Amino acid sequence: MHACAVMQSPLTYKKINNMTVSRQQLSPQGPSFSRFIAGYWRLADWNMSAQQCLGFLTEHLELGVTSIDHADIYGDYRVEKLFGDALALQPSLRSEMEIVSKCGIKLVSPARADHRLNHYDTSSAHIIASVDNSLGNLRTDYLDLLLIHRPDPLMNVDDIATAFDSLKRAGKVRHFGVSNFTSSQCALLQSRLDEPLVTNQVELSPANLSVLHDGTLDYCQQYHMAPMIWSALGGGQLFTNGDARFQRIREVLVEVGKQHNGASPDQIVYAWIMKHPSRPLPLIGSGNITRYHTALAAESIELDRQQWFSIWRAATGHDVP
Ligand code: NAP
Repeated sequence: MHACAVMQSPLTYKKINNMTVSRQQLSPQGPSFSRFIAGYWRLADWNMSAQQCLGFLTEHLELGVTSIDHADIYGDYRVEKLFGDALALQPSLRSEMEIVSKCGIKLVSPARADHRLNHYDTSSAHIIASVDNSLGNLRTDYLDLLLIHRPDPLMNVDDIATAFDSLKRAGKVRHFGVSNFTSSQCALLQSRLDEPLVTNQVELSPANLSVLHDGTLDYCQQYHMAPMIWSALGGGQLFTNGDARFQRIREVLVEVGKQHNGASPDQIVYAWIMKHPSRPLPLIGSGNITRYHTALAAESIELDRQQWFSIWRAATGHDVP
């Protein structure tokens, strides 16, 4: 059984199979998020009107998925505005959700005529300008969480600390974290901050095991900083890629699913991720609400170690040493 979504809310939180989605503190002084997070990267591809986007948003809020992931660059700089246009139809919903955005990547785009090539910019000036832009597009006064999207080889952590301090004092950002950082990059930035980073948003799935073994999740566990997990389903590759490795992974996911009352492969993947002791929060990348129903039921699936390692073995192609 999982903790109820404890909130005073005009929305009714539906029970799924007699359970509600649990909530989790990202870090001891960090925000409380829904265990699953709504990923909006692909929103521009979903071809939703503002009204349809509002409908989708309302549906996942009703399921208790209140934490929402954005970035300035998503959809070639268009996604945050599409979301903001939907939110503007019912602004009172803002208090029902936690919004994450990211900055630090600059893409070549018709929307950014001065970008001659894709590059990173984690200067204080860019971080502050990007947040102001995101707030305008998202039609909100504050972000619950801001992440530095990618580690920048030119990042000056004193400069980043200055930007974080300024954004916090202005009430524009409540918490800060990183994405795709190694443990040493986390430690470097943390060394200049007064408050602990609350998360590192990283890729993890049977299609990509790197963070399990390169120290990234060790750091998260050491500092009680729950990771957010992107492309938990390998961006869909786990189901569509025809390579032998992916076929082998699918076969094991089906086999383990049979041992859990016929749980679907995506449910087994989410259960596999959530078993990690760093307490990962998976992002759901779909615009299809039925995918949410399936995903959320995975919270009740407890894999044993041999089931977990059978998926690890299928993913690596070899036994443990
Ligand atoms: P994902 O959940 O691994 O992939 C979503 C894709 O998988 C969708 O195209 C979806 O198709 C497909 N899919 C889901 N279930 C399926 C199934 N049972 N069978 C076949 N296809 C299925 O996640 P993601 O979209 O790659 O990433 C999730 C979120 O992470 C993004 O929205 C974004 O917020 C964040 N992200 C962050 C970073 C970073 O650097 N920090 C990078 C990438 C993404 P349908 O639309 O048909 O459901």
